[in-house]
Amino acid sequence: MSKYVLPELPYGYKDLEPYISEEQLKIHHQKHHQTYVNGANAIFDKMAKAREENADIDQKATLKELSFNIGGHLLHSLFWANLAPAGKGGEPSAALMEALEKEFGSFERFKKEFTQAAASVEGSGWAALTYCKLTKRPLIMQIEKHNVHVYPMFKILMVIDTFEHAYYIDYKNDRAKFIEAFWNIVNWNEVNKRFEEAL
Ligand code: MN
Repeated sequence: MSKYVLPELPYGYKDLEPYISEEQLKIHHQKHHQTYVNGANAIFDKMAKAREENADIDQKATLKELSFNIGGHLLHSLFWANLAPAGKGGEPSAALMEALEKEFGSFERFKKEFTQAAASVEGSGWAALTYCKLTKRPLIMQIEKHNVHVYPMFKILMVIDTFEHAYYIDYKNDRAKFIEAFWNIVNWNEVNKRFEEAL
């Protein structure tokens, strides 16, 4: 049976400096992300054992823990890929720009709203730029923890991790500074690709 695995980063640990330090990126990827991968796999092992023994599974607790860990794994995987070394991430495509301008009025307004969304996620969580295939409109989502407030079928185009573990070594408790730094290392080429896939 297939298991979740920690993806390799598409760049080196030093490559996002000075916006994310080597130490910060290493611990975030190798320790925190790995913990969600291990956590999800361990729950599958536990469920398999219970099925073998014909024992009951505490569905509520198990599924909650599972969605937290799988959500954590998938969101981190999206996050690493929508980051790139400064100057290497390209620009929003004409099609993405048009969609953002149509929805938000301007790119600057989108950036401001996304920044505010990321800054105000309650507790630990994520801000995501998503695309609704039904209405063909982009929408900003706040995802609490790794799993709360996710709308099924919305395509995730770009995410930022606003758990403190994402920035504490570099920025202490200054989430706003981390979000500001994030804009320098967005991999627009990847965001453009996800947008095209959604269309
Ligand atoms: Mn994280």
